[in-house]
Amino acid sequence: MTQTHGMGADSAAWLTGVLLGELPYPHDLADLVVVTAMVGDESEATQAAMDDHMLPLMQDRGVPYVQVARASMHDDDGIVVLSDTRRGDPYAMVMRGAVTLSDEMFAAGTIPQTSSRKCSHKWKGWVLDRWAEQEYGGADRLHVVGFAAEETGRRDTDEGYSRSTPGKTPWYPLIDADWDRDRCLAELRRWYGIEWPRSCCAFCPYQAGPDIARMIRRWRAEPAQVVKTVAMERNARSLNPRMRLFKDRSAEDVARRAGLGDVVDQAVAAVDARPAELYEVRRIYRRRGDRRGPNGRGWVFGPDPSDKARDVWRSLRAIAAGTRAEMLARLVAEQALRGGTVEVVDGVPRLVLRRAGPPYPSTEHYLTVAVAGATKERRAFDELWQAVLGLDLPRQLDILVNSR
Ligand code: SF4
Repeated sequence: MTQTHGMGADSAAWLTGVLLGELPYPHDLADLVVVTAMVGDESEATQAAMDDHMLPLMQDRGVPYVQVARASMHDDDGIVVLSDTRRGDPYAMVMRGAVTLSDEMFAAGTIPQTSSRKCSHKWKGWVLDRWAEQEYGGADRLHVVGFAAEETGRRDTDEGYSRSTPGKTPWYPLIDADWDRDRCLAELRRWYGIEWPRSCCAFCPYQAGPDIARMIRRWRAEPAQVVKTVAMERNARSLNPRMRLFKDRSAEDVARRAGLGDVVDQAVAAVDARPAELYEVRRIYRRRGDRRGPNGRGWVFGPDPSDKARDVWRSLRAIAAGTRAEMLARLVAEQALRGGTVEVVDGVPRLVLRRAGPPYPSTEHYLTVAVAGATKERRAFDELWQAVLGLDLPRQLDILVNSR
């Protein structure tokens, strides 16, 4: 039996309840292995709660604990076991591997999105599945998932995925026991005398809902988390001004309103001090129904030019590198060559060459300065770009100034 321990209140409550005999456990405890996938961006409070409370109890009851992480950004490199008490490693939190989710987000110039849980799958689910393959092969195993009683929707999604994984049978004991999040927190308070911290990345976009007051308390206690979060978001917003961590609110705005303006300023200074590049950013807002032409050549567009597809293609190309000041000077010089309009949004200047808008497909084109290393372009981007420009649809918003 494996418990995937997310380090949060639900996982901690179930494991503590079982080890103290307050929750049923109809199996042999000698078969239990607890494993956590480390994303690398958790708070110090989570580490302290695990080190001070959860690990001593596990050690006392002889429950093995394994910590795993991605070996690199590339799936081909697999995973690394950071710690395994069965091989003699101490009961101590490691918390991060060689790479972290924030490294990935910075390198890609983006932020985690609430529209998908891709980050969770890539940095947690995928890692745990690879470890289970190494550990058990396809042998039958019971897999404990610490979803609280109110998380039946997540259970339904997880169950289908879990049951399609060879040998894996999921078990959701907190839902069976009808322990919701409040009950888990109350029991943890009774057992350990602390408010168990929320386990999540510093910049998790899911934490600013009804729980936002707790997030701000965490940010006040650990300003380094705010610096990381705001720096990541600011870099992403340099490349795409629509990026906000909390839907209609930016992390920068939330932090300033919480009286953390000095910490935000540190984050801005940290971004500005990093090596920079001047990026050419191009996007294609596609039309629903567009597809490759016969034999994969050319493009055929859907029938309705007002029907925008969800898919947006992006190309990021660095056209110069240096300090941020040098790149800003180059941006101004580019305006003399290309024309366009310099716009400043939230302190970030960009040279707008073409704006997107109906009819679709439509293109967007600007130059902006951001942290170096984010060059990225999907295959066939240029071919579609040229095809869309070739359509020559009438638009009101175009600023056609020497742009391709
Ligand atoms: S805690 Fe949030 S940001 Fe971190 S991996 Fe999970 S969903 Fe993504």
